[in-house]
Amino acid sequence: MSEKTKGQELCEELSYKRRNYFEVASEEEKQAIFDYAEGYKAFLDAAKTEREATQRSVELARGAGFTEYHFGDPLKAGDKKYFVNRGKSVVVFRVGSLPLEEDGLRIIASHIDAPRVDIKQNPLYEDSGMAFLKTHYYGGIKKYQWTAIPLALHGVVILKDGTKVEIRVGEEAGDPVFYINDLLPHLGGEQMSGSASKLIEGEQLNVLVGGLPYADGEVKDRIKLTVLSVLKEKYGMCEEDFLSAELSAVPAFPARDVGFDRALIGAYGHDDRVCAYPALTAVLWNETPHTVLAMLVDKEEIGSEGNTGIQSKVYEDLMEEISIALGANFRKVRAASKCLSSDVTAAFDPNFAGVYEKMNAAILSCGTAMCKFTGARGKSGSNDANAEFIGEVRKMFAEEGVVWQTAELGKVDIGGGGTVAKFVANLNIDTVDLGVPVISMHAPWEVISKADLYSNYKAFLAFMK
Ligand code: MN
Ligand code: MN
Repeated sequence: MSEKTKGQELCEELSYKRRNYFEVASEEEKQAIFDYAEGYKAFLDAAKTEREATQRSVELARGAGFTEYHFGDPLKAGDKKYFVNRGKSVVVFRVGSLPLEEDGLRIIASHIDAPRVDIKQNPLYEDSGMAFLKTHYYGGIKKYQWTAIPLALHGVVILKDGTKVEIRVGEEAGDPVFYINDLLPHLGGEQMSGSASKLIEGEQLNVLVGGLPYADGEVKDRIKLTVLSVLKEKYGMCEEDFLSAELSAVPAFPARDVGFDRALIGAYGHDDRVCAYPALTAVLWNETPHTVLAMLVDKEEIGSEGNTGIQSKVYEDLMEEISIALGANFRKVRAASKCLSSDVTAAFDPNFAGVYEKMNAAILSCGTAMCKFTGARGKSGSNDANAEFIGEVRKMFAEEGVVWQTAELGKVDIGGGGTVAKFVANLNIDTVDLGVPVISMHAPWEVISKADLYSNYKAFLAFMK
């Protein structure tokens, strides 16, 4: 091998180079990357809604020896707890040995809701040989992407007597699935010449749920009646029970490896389970001297609102309750706390290169991506983390050999997005965004790299060290 020139040496010493994690990982670590992805795929399939993600997280927590926590319970170092908020959000936490007022809480915040198509409160009708459910979509979707694919129905119905019935149809082999109609290209000339945002309008996102007329010529809307009779038989519900139901149509596809080399995973709802699962497993599976919390919250996709979104006081109350139980001053505790707000970012896509600024876009497989700021139009609505805190986190990652990168979501003034970061930061907690780059974010089926998934997990381990 020839000697390096002085310039080459200087280049190595002074220049920043992003690294592809697959390329720099040892054989052993590469195996760990692929092994970890298997558990993640299973989690995705079990947890397509925030309710299911909460349920599955609680099961995993119990399996790891965590027990349920309620406000007012005593706490001591070494305790492993989970806290459920209304069945739609869960916080798993470990009480550490370090003094809370000086060390603060180490928080990883991710969300477990995902864009989808929600069923309206009075949804069922029949028209021209078909029965449909009316919908109102949830989160930012390209509506046309949700047509002509198999859909599953997930959710709960609260019956007149208060009984809660869980519904999950379209996931098991042999289950029927559901469908949103699209127009055939033969008649789609006018549709295709318009704006893509108008290809399918909100009120056209009607979910096809039946086609068999009830065998009684005396009644009107016989297909609707068949659907109602099946719902009665299976769930004990009548039409009025839709009024107090929370049902969602989600893609019926399972998570699958993508590519000949299986480097990637395609699935519904990587945003943000690809961060929530590493947050959860980091806290469940690893001891730490810090008091750490993985907060898996709801409603991020619609602005983190409501009593299960991160803006709810319940999360602040929980942190305060933990402080009180450990005899610490909450104001001091949160001033000393640190948070990784872990949400996905956009991976640079060469097929749409024009909307990215490549130097500052996340590149697939180069590790979990830190976003100093999110927002839009001059960083509006962004947390914009302090350089000091980023420097601190950067040092943690360097010490643990985490392969990571920084990212900005798209070119300046092209668009933007927000996360839960700013709401946590409002509590006087140092916070920065860190998450996995996603291809086709918010599509019914998104793609991520297994390397970035594992990098995110390793980043959390470094944060907890
Ligand atoms: Mn997200
Ligand atoms: Mn999102």
